[in-house]
Amino acid sequence: MNSVNFQPVCSSNLWIEHLVNGLSGLSIKAKHAVFCDSSPFQKIEIFDTYNYGLVLCLGGSIVMTERDSFIYHEMFVHPPMLMHPEPKSVCVIGGGDGGCLGEILKHSSVKKITLVEIDNMVTETVKRFYPGREASFSDPRVTMVFDDGYHYLSKNEDKFDVIIVDSYDPAGPVQSLETADFYSIVSQRCGENGIVVFQTDTPVIRKEYTRMVMSGVSPQFSSCKPYICPVASFPDSLCSFLLCTNTEQLLENFSDARFAGIADLCEYYNEEMHKGLFLLPQYIKNILKQ
Ligand code: SAM
Repeated sequence: MNSVNFQPVCSSNLWIEHLVNGLSGLSIKAKHAVFCDSSPFQKIEIFDTYNYGLVLCLGGSIVMTERDSFIYHEMFVHPPMLMHPEPKSVCVIGGGDGGCLGEILKHSSVKKITLVEIDNMVTETVKRFYPGREASFSDPRVTMVFDDGYHYLSKNEDKFDVIIVDSYDPAGPVQSLETADFYSIVSQRCGENGIVVFQTDTPVIRKEYTRMVMSGVSPQFSSCKPYICPVASFPDSLCSFLLCTNTEQLLENFSDARFAGIADLCEYYNEEMHKGLFLLPQYIKNILKQ
């Protein structure tokens, strides 16, 4: 990796600002910058901050913080994993920060994880600065593929029990993942009882995006159910997901036995969060016309 020898600038007034449409967002005071470079796809930065620990920014957007991204990763991964009767083969599109990967590895039923990340510099940087992530990426069950997710799924006909699409990035490196073709390919790569979850951004100030994914994905699956969770480091402190499957009865599943195997490893997800997953406040229902 051709990294610049970045000398952290210790500044009393260094702020990370993440705005949506330049109108509202989040500011986090940083102690100093830890890493700053650019890959062929995007700018990659890490800051050490007072209230959020290490913060990873891609293309100027906050994508992971030590303080609260566990909420995002646990709520992205564990609901589909405990709805599926026995998830063995999992695919992550994007997610090169390793957060979802770490949660998937907690499931002993999993035999194979394929993570398709377009930018290997994201993964190399995270391995360098986030303690513990290296172990996830080098787990023998993990196959890292550095490729465009659409291209990979188009040329590989493997089927998966669970597919996690953690590549939401409106200004991201490649916009191949917000197309009807991609949604169609994803549904074709779902095995029997397959479940797919898309991250659909903050459903209030980015409702157009959330609605776009819902309308794009709905023709491909018999059941598409949105859910939300609070993530302070999201621009509107609210993150949404869309859980999709062609086996509707799975939505009622919760494996007590398999939850018992991960319960002590979770700090947000639990049985109540799972069973109340699809409960939405009325204003969100109105936005999503649920
Ligand atoms: N966890 C982040 C969040 O909170 O929004 C989402 C992950 S990050 C923004 C998006 C990840 O997907 C990045 O690592 C990016 O390099 C990767 N990515 C973007 N487009 C991709 C594509 N077409 N194929 C595979 N990975 C892609």
